[in-house]
Amino acid sequence: MSVFGCEVFDDHEQVVFCCDRDTGLHAIIAIHDTTLGPALGGCRYWPYLNEAQALEDVLRLSRGMTYKAAMARLPLGGGKSVILGDPKRTKSRELLLTFGEAVGRLGGRYIVAEDVGTTADDMATVRRVTRHVAGLPGARGAGDPGPTTALGVLHGIHAAVRHKLGRASLKGCSVAVQGLGSVGYRLCQLLHSEGAHLIVADIDRSRVERARKELSAKPSEPEAIFEVEADVFAPCALGSVLDDRTIPRLRAAIVAGSANNQLAEDRHGELLRSRGILYAPDYVINAGGLISVAREALGREGSGYERERVLAEVAGIEEALQEMFDRADKDQLPTNVVADRMAEERLAAAGLPGTRLARPATG
Ligand code: NAD
Repeated sequence: MSVFGCEVFDDHEQVVFCCDRDTGLHAIIAIHDTTLGPALGGCRYWPYLNEAQALEDVLRLSRGMTYKAAMARLPLGGGKSVILGDPKRTKSRELLLTFGEAVGRLGGRYIVAEDVGTTADDMATVRRVTRHVAGLPGARGAGDPGPTTALGVLHGIHAAVRHKLGRASLKGCSVAVQGLGSVGYRLCQLLHSEGAHLIVADIDRSRVERARKELSAKPSEPEAIFEVEADVFAPCALGSVLDDRTIPRLRAAIVAGSANNQLAEDRHGELLRSRGILYAPDYVINAGGLISVAREALGREGSGYERERVLAEVAGIEEALQEMFDRADKDQLPTNVVADRMAEERLAAAGLPGTRLARPATG
């Protein structure tokens, strides 16, 4: 198997393989780039089919974090880790402590946070052996990043509605929200409080019912949400929802939501553009949670977690998207291409000698 030559390797600074016989730990920590600061990224605990799949995932995700942090103007690089195994069967306190020791040996070049298969409580366990952890539960940490992510998406929707529809407020706008979880439901509450009309879908009917009762939302079947006539379609559930099958069905003028990796392939950014739909690139509009977790990690040794600063930086997502939309219009390019270029320019300005790949994946 070629590692250095494979596309996703993309000149990673460091990749660490961690193995411990006693606890059964098999983990990979990938540090893509630390030009802008220490590499922050979640730890995904997942039953990969094989080691090659796990390696590809961690490399792809850690590279994506470099772009996401750069666009959020954070003094952070990109990294990620994966633990191979089924968290329901193999996760143990001892295994997490052993993993934490491996993170600690990197001396702060990598800061770990929760991701799919790990929890804030798991991070509290890891914290017992290393201080290079973010996203701790309760008063010690920034708490659930979901509501802060939702706030960032709201700012992004403001930028998109102003740019595409020339409207200064969300009052009377219609927004079709797919997924009413940690981010989606909070986003609905924020939109409702600003006078937007909601159309909502979730495979969990109790969440749809709650939105109907509390926020006067109009329910949609999960598959029908793509065809809803609305000003904005906000994907807040799964990745890869924008593809050859769904894009032709969209009747919204704007796509702006929290889901990671919304475009099935890069070229779908151009397909959206050719249909006249304004797309808010996922890793830019959904950076609110990262900003919150990052400020917890960065503030620990200084002034602590500064909520006001986090809110100001999350509000900056609106301006970042406005700049991106203007440039996409001027250069006649899809917004996802412009986002990648802007991130690469920031890295180049900070000293990274050029990047080569297409759209990064975030997670
Ligand atoms: P969540 O698991 O809390 O919520 C996801 C919701 O989507 C659930 O209610 C689920 O029932 C629903 N869902 C699943 N499949 C669906 C379908 N086919 N149609 C409609 N609904 C469906 O997740 P979350 O934390 O709210 O995150 C939502 C998305 O935003 C994810 O893609 C996540 O990767 C991304 N994201 C989240 C954060 C964060 O801070 N939580 C940050 C950045 C990106």
